[in-house]
Amino acid sequence: MSRTALRICPLCEATCGMVLTIDEDDRISSARGDREDVFSHGFICPKGASFAELDNDPDRLQQPMVRRDGELVETSWPEAFAAAAQGLQRVIAETGGASVAVYLGNPNAHTIAGSLYGPVVIKSLGTRQAYSASTLDQMPKHVSCGYLYGNPLAFTVPDLDRTDYLVVIGGNPLVSNGSLATAADFPGKIKALRRRGGKLVVIDPTRTRTAELADRHLAVRPGSDAALLFAVVHVLFDEDLVDLGRLTDHVTGVDRVRAAAQDFPPGAVADHCGVSADEIRTLARELAAAPAAAVYGRIGTSTVQFGTLTSWLVDVVNILTGNLDRPGGVMFASSSIAGAPRPARPGRGFATGRWRSRVSGHPEVLSELPAVALAEEIETPGDGQIRALITIAGNPVLSAPDGARLQDALGTVSFMVSVDPYLNETTRHADVILPPPPPSRAAHFDIALSVAMVRNNARYSPPVLPLPDGRPDECEILSRLALIALGMGPDADPTLVDDQVITSTLGKEVADEHSPVAGRSVEELVAMLPAGRGYERRLDMMLRLGPFGDGFGADPHGLTLQKVKDAPHGVDLGPLVPRIPEVLRTASGTVELDPGPILADLPRLLASLTSEPGFLLIGRRHLRSNNSWMHNLPALSGGSNRCTLQIHPDDAARLGLEDMAVVTGSGGKLEVPVEITDAIRPGVVSLPHGWGHTEPGTRMRVAARDPGVNVNNLNDGTLLDPLSGTAVLSALPVEVAPVG
Ligand code: SF4
Repeated sequence: MSRTALRICPLCEATCGMVLTIDEDDRISSARGDREDVFSHGFICPKGASFAELDNDPDRLQQPMVRRDGELVETSWPEAFAAAAQGLQRVIAETGGASVAVYLGNPNAHTIAGSLYGPVVIKSLGTRQAYSASTLDQMPKHVSCGYLYGNPLAFTVPDLDRTDYLVVIGGNPLVSNGSLATAADFPGKIKALRRRGGKLVVIDPTRTRTAELADRHLAVRPGSDAALLFAVVHVLFDEDLVDLGRLTDHVTGVDRVRAAAQDFPPGAVADHCGVSADEIRTLARELAAAPAAAVYGRIGTSTVQFGTLTSWLVDVVNILTGNLDRPGGVMFASSSIAGAPRPARPGRGFATGRWRSRVSGHPEVLSELPAVALAEEIETPGDGQIRALITIAGNPVLSAPDGARLQDALGTVSFMVSVDPYLNETTRHADVILPPPPPSRAAHFDIALSVAMVRNNARYSPPVLPLPDGRPDECEILSRLALIALGMGPDADPTLVDDQVITSTLGKEVADEHSPVAGRSVEELVAMLPAGRGYERRLDMMLRLGPFGDGFGADPHGLTLQKVKDAPHGVDLGPLVPRIPEVLRTASGTVELDPGPILADLPRLLASLTSEPGFLLIGRRHLRSNNSWMHNLPALSGGSNRCTLQIHPDDAARLGLEDMAVVTGSGGKLEVPVEITDAIRPGVVSLPHGWGHTEPGTRMRVAARDPGVNVNNLNDGTLLDPLSGTAVLSALPVEVAPVG
């Protein structure tokens, strides 16, 4: 007899609730949307519908692997942990934990393990060599929010359900289902906006599927969004349209921004942006006039030379039009696990550069170094050289610039451990691979994404299927690695990690006079946590200390993990609510509109207005893909999910392009099939990322049948946004020519 179970989809930021069908052999056989899910209401996309295929993928590693005589071979879990301990301890004994680097891939944002235990591994090593996909993605948003609000996790999220005017820049949520705005059924929300008479404006070099729905599409030149937004700011001041609304007393630095905007009149940027001065003025006027408007910037505003400046300007426009922290504008989510609100007060503010990378001197940002620095930090001898590497759910050989160089570098590390379900382009270099179980056998709670929800909620999926005997879940794998890093060996009890985190967190809480558990005893609170898995005890603690929590009994109506479990379709916690000034942690206690490091970057932006590059390369998302690991599912292969070079018909005709093109960038050249389409702006070409499954020694057989090319091999990684360390992956100068 088949049966069903509920599970939140872990594949993208939309976090849709699913109903899984489980056959009599304990295998997931299908997935459909959960109509009763309080957040997604039944929505599901083709990726989620392929969950069974992903879960049952025969290429997924079921056993750990260790390198013997140069070959990766399957082994038992005790032997794999022993090998990891031996290799890591050898390097730590020789050159210290600081010589062990950690790379965290994007899927860590979607797992309990990645969110709760990845940071513990880094801390246990005591290393400053921490890298992640954030510097290939959203780090500029962290930095701009850090400077503006004093909290790099205080993301401004478009209030999609209530806005009257939505501007989407550099994002294609109809295909991606949204990012940094966790909104199941983003397409439905856009259609609802149109139905209630609202307006959608899309700013993108491509007429994307989202742009096709828009009232207005501004086909901007890639990488020029900062100039365009500054011109909008100029018009807002010039035409006396600035109105901070209820935030007037909570925003400082307006005059300095007004002065800076003088350099960006619409007429001065129009040619550079490829958007007329009239269109820029209209955008500014409509934003100011809308009852509630939200400007939402995503990857195209982030992985560019002015990523932090652009992310900052997105919010500057929201703030100057009075749309920050009001319904229908951009708001701050109230994460159910982020700690109960404290009284408004000045904080420590935000800073980067507490240390710098050893070779190129890149400043640390959020305790991370840029992913583009990983190869040189491995290659370059000297104190602090990376001697060992732990990768967790990451494939930087495909997702970071200059993968070829990184592959060479990975071949030289003294020891490498990968926590990953696949033998892929990166993990094939590991000495030990520790594969987490399939998602059906893991619990799920959206920890990292809880700060970007467009509606507050708490949802928990326990494991749908049990783990086979002796197989650890990912939380246990990472706990064991943390204990190995601390020198406690492969057999130390992994619950020690949870006990330590719980004791230390509660110790700080009881000492905080504003905590709901102020003055109570840690032992009493620990005794109130449920027996069971360590991550469940930690989740219960976080929920109880959170803004909707029961405060360990102080509010009997508040949340506990058990209450969330008792609501299998989730607990709806209502629409986003205004949070200023409570959310602010800047040194002044205000929204600091004029951060010094950002204003100091303006001369670079001004200088860029006169540059005249040739072709600019951008990326694109496909509905049936997300990252490299999604290329191994037959159900998601083919169709529109293809690795082609999109180019405008005029450019193709001028160059004589028909079937194949050679694209040349700073890092190398690629031959790639051409897809001629008038959806893309002239002078711009587009290639998707995550492709290039051509390396030997991998085990992703479906992906290898249609390997595509690795777009990042066009990129030597020298271009980055200096304020965030984020690689320039969009608006990259390239040359295009016919093959031969
Ligand atoms: S939109 Fe994202 S979360 Fe929803 S089903 Fe698709 S992949 Fe899963």
